Amino acid sequence: MIPSRTLTIALVSVAVGVLVLVLKYVAYLMTGSVALLSDALESIVNVVTAITTMIAVYLAAKPANATLPYGYDKAEYFSAVIEGVFILVAALLIFQQAWMRFIVEAPLEASMEGLLVNGFAGVVNGAWCLVLFRHGRKTRSPALVADARHLLTDVVSSAGVLFGVFVAILSGISILDPILAAIVGVNILWSGYKLVSESVGGLMDVAVPEDQLNRIRDVIAVNAEGAIEAHDVRTRQSGRKTYVEFHLVVPGDMPVSDAHDICDRIENALRDAVEGVMISIHVEPENKAKHAGIVVL
Ligand code: ZN
Ligand code: ZN
Repeated sequence: MIPSRTLTIALVSVAVGVLVLVLKYVAYLMTGSVALLSDALESIVNVVTAITTMIAVYLAAKPANATLPYGYDKAEYFSAVIEGVFILVAALLIFQQAWMRFIVEAPLEASMEGLLVNGFAGVVNGAWCLVLFRHGRKTRSPALVADARHLLTDVVSSAGVLFGVFVAILSGISILDPILAAIVGVNILWSGYKLVSESVGGLMDVAVPEDQLNRIRDVIAVNAEGAIEAHDVRTRQSGRKTYVEFHLVVPGDMPVSDAHDICDRIENALRDAVEGVMISIHVEPENKAKHAGIVVL
């Protein structure tokens, strides 16, 4: 099953990213401002994340098979690492350009049209950001909401850069331009680092964050009526999927079908609470209780 609406969102995200990138590059050509150039290069990060999202959505729709029984979820991490390298190159390019402008000062072109083009790109980004927020909230997709939040910080920082270049042109203090560019460069480096470290975490089967683990434990505790306890809860993240496994201790003489009903109840509740959750439960008789796990409420 291909979530077609999500795929459309991912496709439009790529298109918006490319459009904004082109507009911002044109604004750089019109003003000669390295700060605006770095702002343009920053949109590469968005194009790149949009492409990863698209690949992830496409691959998530592919069914698992006999050779890849856990599906294609981890494939997106490979593209993310390659993208991290691209982002690193973009940042280095910005530092080099800023440095050159720092030693050989060049006056900025007083092109208000150039600033307007950059501002228009910001408006396009901002509008798309709202669409992402709304769709993310409606489909309860934390990934989409995170994308929207990332885009929002971009819109804000781009507005800051635009204002800085405006001030630099008005005041004639052209040194402001490479300084702004370098700041944007640092920000791009930071996003690249986060992208790569998240991907490495995914490849290493990193656990869910503490607050999500607590939510999972709570869901198990309130839905396991009839069982005695749950223990050895382990989680791992793989692409948009979250794997949860644990042991469920039940009275030794409980019929298998009753124990299975409890498992189904927990599984349904977890599916409501965690997006893309895959659950595996190992049922044990009471003499296996550790009295140290999740006590059933
Ligand atoms: Zn056990
Ligand atoms: Zn079953």
